[in-house]
Amino acid sequence: MTQLRIVGGTVYDPLNDIDGEVRDICIDAGRVVEDVPPTAARVDARGMIVMPGGVDIHSHVASGAVNVARRLVPEAHALDPAPAPALIDTAVIPRSGVGGIVPSTFTTGYRYAGLGYTTVFDAAVAPLMARVAHGQLDDTPIVDGGFFALLGNDRLLLDLIDGGERERAREYVAWLLGATGAYAIKVVNPGGVELWKRGSRERTELDTTLGSSGRVTPRAILETLVDAAGALDLPHATHIHCNNLGLPGNAATTLATMRTLDGRRAHFTHLQFHSYASTPDGRWRSGAREIIEYVNDHPSISADVGQVMFGAAATLTADAPVEYLLHKSSGRKWANVDIELETGCGVVPHEYRERAAVAALQWAVGLELFLLSADPWRIVLSTDHPNGGSFMSYPRLIRLLMDRTYRDAQLRRVESRLLAGSALTDGLEREYTLREIAIVTRAGPARLLGLRDKGHLGVGADGDVTVYAPGDDVARTFASPRYVVKGGTVVVEEGELRRAPPGRRLHVRPPYDRAITHEIRTHFDQYATVRFENFPVGELRDAPSALATRTPSAGGR
Ligand SMILES: [Zn+2]
Repeated sequence: MTQLRIVGGTVYDPLNDIDGEVRDICIDAGRVVEDVPPTAARVDARGMIVMPGGVDIHSHVASGAVNVARRLVPEAHALDPAPAPALIDTAVIPRSGVGGIVPSTFTTGYRYAGLGYTTVFDAAVAPLMARVAHGQLDDTPIVDGGFFALLGNDRLLLDLIDGGERERAREYVAWLLGATGAYAIKVVNPGGVELWKRGSRERTELDTTLGSSGRVTPRAILETLVDAAGALDLPHATHIHCNNLGLPGNAATTLATMRTLDGRRAHFTHLQFHSYASTPDGRWRSGAREIIEYVNDHPSISADVGQVMFGAAATLTADAPVEYLLHKSSGRKWANVDIELETGCGVVPHEYRERAAVAALQWAVGLELFLLSADPWRIVLSTDHPNGGSFMSYPRLIRLLMDRTYRDAQLRRVESRLLAGSALTDGLEREYTLREIAIVTRAGPARLLGLRDKGHLGVGADGDVTVYAPGDDVARTFASPRYVVKGGTVVVEEGELRRAPPGRRLHVRPPYDRAITHEIRTHFDQYATVRFENFPVGELRDAPSALATRTPSAGGR
């Protein structure tokens, strides 16, 4: 299907200042165009809501940790078999799989597309596991995807900082992104995972030192990596998971991190998990207001929320110390996988219950962040799937944001013991509009990711479009789009998945100073269990994203 006209829908395209206008969207050869001839195929969208395809800025769908999580929760799979879809596209073999909180690869692609999402990023891939991640993305159909490379506890990076070599650290980062086919830099608990692997069980503060010189601290790691993303002109800012995730009082760490990076472009992920204050006796309370007010006042900062949704979850993260504590406190089964020289990995299944005080607080903190946000372009939607809940819960989350009556009814059911001081209990009236939902689920993430052809429906944009049938129940509307178009192909028709073309890989390949490879090779020869030559993933099927022009300090490719 090369030419398509989506007829007469009510279009929400915030990047192009279109807010509920009835108009046609035309697609030719996979891209939005001004017009197509009358012979073009048609989708009747009259009376329906039309938005660009959804863009998930932070999810876990394709890492080594995701595979560990799949192995750890077979019981969730047994409860949710996923039969192969009835595709009409005979060029593609439909695949069965399993769902649950961590679905298998093909099912992940089908379900994201079935929600109207057409782009998904895995937010945490250990560089050593890059091949595994690309393999999984190859088997996650329909959605365009990529991943962020974990760098905040990387041994060579820490050694370069220790030696006062931040510029060479940046060249190493440039090499590593290209070698692994990653899209962005990810920092998880900078320095804290490495310290935990060495046996420390203490909280990590910004000036906790690692290494011999005293130069390596979480603060130095953050500055180095945030500056690297800027100097390399990467499309997305460095994606930061702060120190002390999930601990009472961690809002102070989060604010200190934001202050140390002041004026520099930085993305703070799953901010909800980093927005807890504490009472004088060490109990949890909401720190959301202080955090969101700081973000509102500082336009160089962006964030995704990491909303907690009640029900099953699987916590999986490179932040192994967090998983160790969660395993200890919950008694649930635990997997830990140290990744040599690079990072950690831990997985613990979890359940957020309405009557559990901490879960109720986490739920409230996330909603406070959303409802007190002054700029939806900078505070976007995520549940940190599957950590705060499945991506399949996005429609319910959208209803919580759009429907105050529904939200207040849920608030009355939750355990309120830790909610004193939460803005939510004061009665936040705000209800998100369809325009704001379009921003936090597609236009905003696309802009933050530097995806110029996504998140909007202007001429030249990717032909990724979702058509929803409005109804009384917003959650139902967003759970089952009537049509989903991916790259000009109608993949969902009348609410049924009908086609499953492969997605494209989104990655970057920044130029770098070739002199750094000597040092990297020596590092591999001395410490790694893989050879330097075997580490890069090689050519990928899709070309790297264009970067703003950058001249490396010397040499370059
Ligand atoms: Zn995450």
